[in-house]
Amino acid sequence: MLSEFDLIKQFFQRARPGRADLGIGDDCALITPASGRQLAISSDMLVEDRHFFKGADPFMLGHKSLAVNLSDLAAMGARPLGFTLALALPAADPVWLEGFSRGLFALADAHDCELIGGDTTKGPLNICITVFGELAPGHALRRDAARVGDDIWISGTLGDARLALAGYWKEVALDDADHAQAALRMHMPTPRVALGLALAQQPVAHAALDISDGLVGDLGHILAASQAGATLDVDALPAGPVLARQALDLRRRFTAAGGDDYELCFTAPIEQREAVLEAGRVSGTTVTRVGRIEAEPGLRFVATDGAPLDLKLSGWDHFS
Ligand code: ADP
Ligand code: MG
Repeated sequence: MLSEFDLIKQFFQRARPGRADLGIGDDCALITPASGRQLAISSDMLVEDRHFFKGADPFMLGHKSLAVNLSDLAAMGARPLGFTLALALPAADPVWLEGFSRGLFALADAHDCELIGGDTTKGPLNICITVFGELAPGHALRRDAARVGDDIWISGTLGDARLALAGYWKEVALDDADHAQAALRMHMPTPRVALGLALAQQPVAHAALDISDGLVGDLGHILAASQAGATLDVDALPAGPVLARQALDLRRRFTAAGGDDYELCFTAPIEQREAVLEAGRVSGTTVTRVGRIEAEPGLRFVATDGAPLDLKLSGWDHFS
């Protein structure tokens, strides 16, 4: 049987030298922020049966646990530095831990983001990560920074993760290949770190956030914080490749209010259109212009021809 400390040593403590002055093993990790840089800090918790199904693939769960956290750094325009991992495990299962840590470190290494500490306890499966990043003071892409007249942009595509969920719930009939493709978006989201960094340089963008609970609800946070309204061209929303083959009504609902997309929604002044496209190019991320920030409060939907659309949509809320 693995002890708590064997488990940490075997699966989470790595021999390689890291960026931290002191990593796993003492009461605290020690890091020295680069002089004049600001720290960006965020936590995200993944709870079994709430954020993922019982029996979820451990490799993908390792990836997703860190991906949703890196996505928050991306949304702020911060460069990842390191993270802590607080784990509650029902048992010290070496097969599960091997898969989980492999998925976790594959993504961590791709972003040069070091595991510097954490906590391990027995309990219902629960994964809580805190990430640390850095950015230039004044360059963070804050939710309260949208300005009237800004374009609204979306990275990548939306809705395939929600479509995968609809497939599991039998809300929508999907063939196996389509469901598998959409499910990959749900289980292996791509944090848009390089895009966030490019947008925060100069800076190109004003406000940004990552879409975890559906665009409509999340964009609402930018509007509330920035005391503005917006019009969204619903048919301009970039649908995931599987969702793009579905009927118009489903496409509209799942792009506008899907969830689990982990794409960036950001605003930028019209003069920055070329710079936004360039940020997309240098980061290898598609960016699509989907609407406009306006002085009139509220969120309005229009079709491509400009006709108003009455979509009854709302974001995801864990307590309603
Ligand atoms: P403490 O008793 O001070 O809470 P622990 O004995 O729980 O410390 O942890 C020992 C060391 O292992 C600490 O440096 C802690 O940060 C690290 N650690 C514990 N769990 C994990 C984990 N799941 N991933 C990474 N590091 C961990
Ligand atoms: Mg402890």
